[in-house]
Amino acid sequence: MTSLILYTPGHNIYTDTLIMHGMVRVMAETGCTRGVVRRIGEAYMVQYRGCQQSGSDIRDTASLHLLSLYMKMLMHKNTMDLETPYLSKLRDFKVFCAAQNYINRLASEDLGINIDKYSGAKGLNHRASAGEGRSPSRGGKGNTTLYLPLCPLCGKYSTVTLLRAGELVQGYRGNEQYKVCRDCFVLALIGFMWGTSMLSFRTGGSQAAYVFAAAPLEASVSDVLLFQRAFSDPKVTHNGIKLASDLPATAAALAFASILDVPLRRGASMELLQWRLEKRGNQRPSFVQPVLPFSRLLAAVASIRYVAPEWPLFVQRRLGSRDAVNDVIELLDEIYNAVMSGSMERLYNAARLLASIEAKSGPPIIPGEALAAALRAGEGHDPGHV
Ligand SMILES: [Zn+2]
Repeated sequence: MTSLILYTPGHNIYTDTLIMHGMVRVMAETGCTRGVVRRIGEAYMVQYRGCQQSGSDIRDTASLHLLSLYMKMLMHKNTMDLETPYLSKLRDFKVFCAAQNYINRLASEDLGINIDKYSGAKGLNHRASAGEGRSPSRGGKGNTTLYLPLCPLCGKYSTVTLLRAGELVQGYRGNEQYKVCRDCFVLALIGFMWGTSMLSFRTGGSQAAYVFAAAPLEASVSDVLLFQRAFSDPKVTHNGIKLASDLPATAAALAFASILDVPLRRGASMELLQWRLEKRGNQRPSFVQPVLPFSRLLAAVASIRYVAPEWPLFVQRRLGSRDAVNDVIELLDEIYNAVMSGSMERLYNAARLLASIEAKSGPPIIPGEALAAALRAGEGHDPGHV
């Protein structure tokens, strides 16, 4: 039995999650679909079983071809003919990334991945060996800036809070860009296309988007591929919400979990990463949101859907309606808090909120007591996992 162990390089949890998704995608296209993904600190280990991949240079896979094709389309500003979730994600990527030279570079290359750079000890030492990071000496030849959509922590002027002589000081990390090798950049970009879902908002001249990514603590490779398929089809409508900042991260996560069509295998343990990107004039700030226990949210949603199969539609419709949107945001937030705290008071508060929404705009989809009972039962679903 051939086995292959790959590591992500440990840039940060966001970029490494994208690199892991890119890696799992590209490897699956070479026939490697059996194995386990495990989190190690902010990095991942992917352990493949029965993997027949020979040679270290991967080319000619569907995702590499598509990435190359889309880059050519973006370069020639010809994006009207083919509308796919991947292409619209790349178009949004372009909006939230100040530079565009990567498009021409990737469009003119025969894209390939040297997977050997991520195997065994080389994978772990990869960051140092490829000259990646932030200092001027780390701008290794051919390395590319890790733009904000691929690393919400990597802004050129992002501030850090330091403890100096017992006092908190705000400081700059310096004005060097964080650079990574071409393989990391391409894998992260493929991970962005296949492993994330985006909720985009456009108001006047400004634009914002929530980015969601499933970040396993432990899951099988096929679990990750299933999540990729579910994430590639963003379906949340939110016409009632004008600004991304009007949607709290917790409500956004629960709305997203509510409409996601993905079975959660018992034993798989997932977290949900969320970051918000904005474009206001020439400014492109990014906001990292708390990491949420995705498995627990999905278990709670599964319990609600068990007693009320219309739940996803209910959430969709209310988020899309200007009249009902604030009520449903409050409800989603309260359900999130009830699930996380296990507090009976919050549970019945959520049930009361639901009853008042239904009384106003009906028809009822789920009696308040049934919601409370479903959430209470949901607590027992997967107590050992986040
Ligand atoms: Zn690299």
